[in-house]
Amino acid sequence: MFTEEEIDCIINAGKIVRNLLSRIKSFIKENISLLELSEKIENEIRNYNGEPAFPCNIGIDEVAAHYTPSINDNKRLAYGCLLKIDIGAHINGFIADAAITISFGSEYEEMIEVAKEALDKALSSISIGEKISNIGEIIEKTIKSYGYKPISNLTGHKISRYMIHAGVSIPNVISNTYGRIEPWSLYAIEPFVTLSKAKGEVINGPLGNILQIIKIKGPKDPKLKDFFDFLFKKYKTLPFARRWIENQEYLDILKKDKLIYEYPVLIEASGFPVAQAEHTILTTDKEVIVIT
Ligand code: MN
Ligand code: MN
Repeated sequence: MFTEEEIDCIINAGKIVRNLLSRIKSFIKENISLLELSEKIENEIRNYNGEPAFPCNIGIDEVAAHYTPSINDNKRLAYGCLLKIDIGAHINGFIADAAITISFGSEYEEMIEVAKEALDKALSSISIGEKISNIGEIIEKTIKSYGYKPISNLTGHKISRYMIHAGVSIPNVISNTYGRIEPWSLYAIEPFVTLSKAKGEVINGPLGNILQIIKIKGPKDPKLKDFFDFLFKKYKTLPFARRWIENQEYLDILKKDKLIYEYPVLIEASGFPVAQAEHTILTTDKEVIVIT
């Protein structure tokens, strides 16, 4: 169950993400710095009284997920790419997570539509008690019916308070996953699509400047402990960007001591472009509401 106040937080986080994604094409200009683009998006979330639930993820072409610009990132948007923007907003830890793909002069408009259609079909099929495996089946069949391939090792996920991946995965392919869609829950549904000739899997690439606290018990050293407590108070168990943090030295010590994890970028294994579509749903005791 969620209280009325909690549902307000969820709905409002969803509105921030939906509104921002609806305007995002106007931010996309040739040669814009990816760092500026990410910061603009994150600041928009804050302007609407949310907090980024994770750093703005920018995935270009074969980069499927988990890349955000570094502190001095000098990458710029070149014309002729497939651009995925994945954003999350939270209010008091209640998260909305959604993504769109934009063809910035790429030849993959159809693949974007296929990702959207797979998402739409999955969303309209979901009811409370729905088998999670049915969702993956609908997504895979829809994608394949257009001659494309789903990324088999990227999934949707249950969301809980301050937890973007709350244990339950929603596969994008046919699988023998157990479990059903439960009432009073949040789930992100997010098909990823690539070309049929691609491997259809992601592999780890270089580090993507996205970090997360992975141990609740802090370090012993008092200075490090203060820093850790500050981080935990601010981000809890949510991912944060390296560029949001001033003390890079302490961050790296905590990383080395395995209190903090830095995510690698996820890249399509055969180097083919990937399109993504994502929405978050809220289930009540009788309804399924797309909040983004
Ligand atoms: Mn997302
Ligand atoms: Mn997600």
